[in-house]
Amino acid sequence: MNTRVVHPLVGVARTLVATPALLRVRPSLNAFFAGYFARFPVVEAGGRLYLHSHLPPLDSAAYARFVRLHLIDRLQAPSHAQVAVTHACPQRCPVCYNRDRTGTPLDEREVHRVVQDLIDAGVVWLGLTGGEPLLRRELPELVALGRGRSEMKLFTTGMGVTARVAEELAAAGLGSVSVSIDHWDEAIHDEGRSYPGAWRAAIRAIETFLANGRLHVGISAVLPREALHDAEAVERLLAFAGTLGVHEVWLSETKPAVPSLWDSALVLTEDERRALAAYQDRWNARVRREKGGVTLNYLGHFEGAERFGCNAGRKMVYVDPFGEVSPCVFLPCSLGNVRERPLQEIIADMWRRFPSEDRCFINRNWPLVEEFSGGVLPMAPARTAAMLGQVSFRPLSAFNRRYYRGQRPL
Ligand code: SF4
Repeated sequence: MNTRVVHPLVGVARTLVATPALLRVRPSLNAFFAGYFARFPVVEAGGRLYLHSHLPPLDSAAYARFVRLHLIDRLQAPSHAQVAVTHACPQRCPVCYNRDRTGTPLDEREVHRVVQDLIDAGVVWLGLTGGEPLLRRELPELVALGRGRSEMKLFTTGMGVTARVAEELAAAGLGSVSVSIDHWDEAIHDEGRSYPGAWRAAIRAIETFLANGRLHVGISAVLPREALHDAEAVERLLAFAGTLGVHEVWLSETKPAVPSLWDSALVLTEDERRALAAYQDRWNARVRREKGGVTLNYLGHFEGAERFGCNAGRKMVYVDPFGEVSPCVFLPCSLGNVRERPLQEIIADMWRRFPSEDRCFINRNWPLVEEFSGGVLPMAPARTAAMLGQVSFRPLSAFNRRYYRGQRPL
């Protein structure tokens, strides 16, 4: 077991020492975060304190930057971003959100520029995704762009990971890594990805990353709605993760991001999302009590009225392998291409068009995406604008009511 659960007071003290500016954050926001933090164990990995892998470590320079830029200055720009650094991948996942996207892939120089521009714009957490990001030989140089400013997280199938690769990434400043595991059963995982040997490569990668000792290591599992209904299946996945000794399970449902998932029978309901978020809280409370175990980080816990709501296009942005800029990985619409418009300009435009709301935008609006895209993804900017003309945004989430003081600044 690699996880060391830290006493909450030690976590608070180390966070305050690293970021004294927390005392300048508006009390209503600090109170909200205090309640939020109490739902997770604080764990130490690679000498840093993690709540979960979608926030910078609490005692890091990136977290101090998050507090300053996003909680105190309330910068009108994303805090979180994902960049697909390549479209290439030997595996074929049916739920891949890039599957239907096409175009001319960004080259090495262009990807470097995108990552740099996002961090300069205020991003403090950046997910390197794909395709298979490890196919980019210059991945360590991309990771190093975040040093002291942005937590860098790698999403990978695990193929091609060696001790040397893990060390190069850790030395470049990589914080956390998530290796995709669809199932504890090797045959099911390999069949789903149409790639014999995928499961073994993933397990070897997890062992290699853990052996490095400087990384926060998790598995990520994207499960269809029916699997999430099966409490026993989720429990078994968590138990399996426990045997691997990882720090975290990043759990997500399949989202209606691609035509094969445009079916209301496949989309999680709000009640189901809330039930899974409650399950996450119970699981994590047990990890805190027992002072060890795997943190459960369920995507849906961020999304509802009770927490952060949907921040697509506001605090979240996605740049796909071809340079198209989307409000989130699961939202297959483009606000522009970095080859045609400065990224800063696209981000400012997105901020105005996506005012945030208390539900997942794509779960609620996928029928409009179906109607306006004509099946061509991502939707071109003009079609995106036409679709948004039909959207009535819902109220702000509990956090965003405090953050925007009840109003949505445009
Ligand atoms: S569209 Fe859904 S998945 Fe994307 S940022 Fe919003 S809540 Fe999250």
